Amino acid sequence: MRTENPNEEGFDDPTSPATGLAAVADVAVRTKDVWKIYAQESEDVEAVRGVSLEVREGDFMTMAGPSGSGKTTLLNMLGGLTRPTSGRIWVGDLEITTLSNKELARLRLESIGFVFQAFNLLPVLSALENAEFSLLLRGVPTEERHRRVRALFDEIGLEGLEDRRPGKLSGGQQQRVAVARAVVGEPTLVLADEPTANLDSHTSDALLDVMERLNQEHGTTFLFSTHDPRVMERARRRVSLVDGQIESDER
Ligand code: ADP
Ligand code: MG
Repeated sequence: MRTENPNEEGFDDPTSPATGLAAVADVAVRTKDVWKIYAQESEDVEAVRGVSLEVREGDFMTMAGPSGSGKTTLLNMLGGLTRPTSGRIWVGDLEITTLSNKELARLRLESIGFVFQAFNLLPVLSALENAEFSLLLRGVPTEERHRRVRALFDEIGLEGLEDRRPGKLSGGQQQRVAVARAVVGEPTLVLADEPTANLDSHTSDALLDVMERLNQEHGTTFLFSTHDPRVMERARRRVSLVDGQIESDER
């Protein structure tokens, strides 16, 4: 499977200019001694404690760990949604810990797809409108937006549900809309927080098929937090987090 991936180490791309700059972009996301401490009235919570992690472009990896181990906090920091208390984070060769909120928002729009644990769909928009949102913000014409969303919806069993609002969809259907929204713009990095938690095995496989296809065809990097053995089985790399620290890292 590894050899199919054009972004793997050692792959010699004859089209890339010999500037040496290309080598920098081999890393999709990197952290250096990242901490997140939530100040609480009683006692501070050290949610993430000194994580240094390097995710290579084209990786398809999972992050497991018990509830409360810091998975969501770490993903939110990698996606520029939460700022670390200390430490540095890079997305590609761009250090995001020094960016303004506006710059972070633009980076997320252009390069990062995020699947939230709680979906975060907009209740007043239809399934299709939720899924096409990032394309709309980027100025993609209506027809193309709809074509891309419909193709994805067909693939993951949401056909016919385009006009429904999230309140009229099951948890699993909302989750699929959230995944469609994250991947429809073909971002370079997808961060997904327990994306199959509410799905039956058939639907979960269909979602993973879509993600694997994007990974193989476009070299999209995927990082999932998950407890799902089905997801972990298909990953090429598995990290486990315990008490805010990386406990193991298997390839
Ligand atoms: P996981 O996703 O692995 O369940 P989280 O990142 O959600 O872990 O939480 C890690 C720890 O940080 C937990 O102890 C949780 O209670 C705490 N925590 C998470 N978010 C906040 C917050 N916004 N304020 C205070 N504590 C938080
Ligand atoms: Mg979580």
